[in-house]
Amino acid sequence: MKTIDEFRQSLRGVLIEAQDEDYEAARKVYNGMINKYPRMIVRCADVADVMASVNYARENNILLSIRSGGHNAGGLGIADDALVIDLSLIKFTLVDPESKIVMTGGGCTWGDIDHATHAFGMATPSGIISTTGVGGLTTGGGIGHLTRKCGLSIDNLLAVDMVLADGSFVTANASKNEDLFWAVRGGGGNFGVITAFKFKLSPIDMVYAGPMLFELSEAEEVMKWYQDIIKNAPDDLNGFFAFLTVPPVAPFPEHLHLKKMCGVVWAYTGTMEKAEEVFKPIRSYKTPALDFVGPLPQPALQSMFDPLYPPGLQWYWRAHFVKELSDDAIAEHVRFGKELPSMLSTMHLYPINGAASRVGSSDTPWAYRDATWAMVIVGVDADPANKDVITNWTKAYWEALKPYCAAGGYVNFMMDEGEERVKATYGHNYERLVRIKNKYDPNNLFKVNQNIKPVLNVEYK
Ligand SMILES: Cc1cc2nc3c(=O)[nH]c(=O)nc-3n(C[C@H](O)[C@H](O)[C@H](O)COP(=O)(O)OP(=O)(O)OC[C@H]3O[C@@H](n4cnc5c(N)ncnc54)[C@H](O)[C@@H]3O)c2cc1C
Repeated sequence: MKTIDEFRQSLRGVLIEAQDEDYEAARKVYNGMINKYPRMIVRCADVADVMASVNYARENNILLSIRSGGHNAGGLGIADDALVIDLSLIKFTLVDPESKIVMTGGGCTWGDIDHATHAFGMATPSGIISTTGVGGLTTGGGIGHLTRKCGLSIDNLLAVDMVLADGSFVTANASKNEDLFWAVRGGGGNFGVITAFKFKLSPIDMVYAGPMLFELSEAEEVMKWYQDIIKNAPDDLNGFFAFLTVPPVAPFPEHLHLKKMCGVVWAYTGTMEKAEEVFKPIRSYKTPALDFVGPLPQPALQSMFDPLYPPGLQWYWRAHFVKELSDDAIAEHVRFGKELPSMLSTMHLYPINGAASRVGSSDTPWAYRDATWAMVIVGVDADPANKDVITNWTKAYWEALKPYCAAGGYVNFMMDEGEERVKATYGHNYERLVRIKNKYDPNNLFKVNQNIKPVLNVEYK
């Protein structure tokens, strides 16, 4: 067994402990509500460092966590007294334009990937903020502007390289370690540390996209209209619904500053000529209070909201899957939309119909292929003193919508919804996930996540 000094010397990356100058900055995650004190943070430089870290944690019985972009809702990239495997130095992007594939390091952000692929006029589906990590977003599913066109991020994943609980290195794809490849497409960080992801690329270069805002007094009507569009739209048209407060900054017009509104953030991936035609009926529905929809390079859309949400804000998250917006559900939405507790708090309904719905509900662990939306309610504010206000609003909103939603919610939008909720989310796929966990991580080394607990002494079939 290695001493800590031997472990440190074996690394190409950096080991940071509490007494080190970098510790305070290194232990922070994106969500300012999370304040954890890990025992050590290992900034791994390569796969060898990841293997050494997994072995060191296991042999010394140290809690292990995995951090890619550090954006996790519940801060599950770090934990008190843990060894944190920090992948932020493992950043590379290799685009093969002929095969339309990108290979990325486990520490890349989606901005890194967009930057690399956009140069070739291509993209792979990600989220709506470019600073989110490829690691957490992908292993949980991956919903964003391209979901209706291309499916979830996991639907575009071709292979992973990963380090398992016993320190061994494997590649998993459709024909090699198929059980692992199935499990990592939605099963989170439960099965090992992914050091590289390989994604399929689609020829998406420019998008016709941006926010369209309406008065809050029109929210009921707008939600009904929006539901109708999304349920019948071609795959090329994506649009997520939001309640929001208009930020008091350019380019928003001053008369709208700090006004509570509702709106849709559209993203059309067809040709720019066709876009005008597709948006004609949308624009003729009623004149929006603000229409920022137009041609944009894909990475510009994906990073559009980055400045609004810098790291360190207080975030409280809750999730639901939604099949239908009934009149009663819409009434509850409007009630809580009017009570947004802070400028940055919001509710989003992300469409997951279209291409994502055509993947079988057992083809990956992501069971809710028949839902229309993944809904997220987030209370967000810069001031820790408002923690209770944003948390209480989020919880009350979530409770009020529960009767109108499915049993589960998207794991990546969950913070502290508990084990039963995670089980409900995986539904009929949960048992298979447990069997794979039993095989690859029977002692639950990878437990700082939305945990799939192994059942010891149950043989893997
Ligand atoms: C501002 C913001 C916007 C978001 N927008 C979207 C969105 O549009 N669409 C969407 O789908 N989600 C979105 N999310 C949610 C996001 O997908 C999750 O928070 C996700 O966990 C973040 O990934 P990360 O790598 O940054 O997180 P981290 O905190 O680094 O990691 C989170 C967890 O992921 C697992 N993990 C991370 N990397 C690896 C790896 N390499 N190998 C194995 N396991 C790993 C670990 O279990 C870890 O506990 C958003 C989050 C934020 C904060």
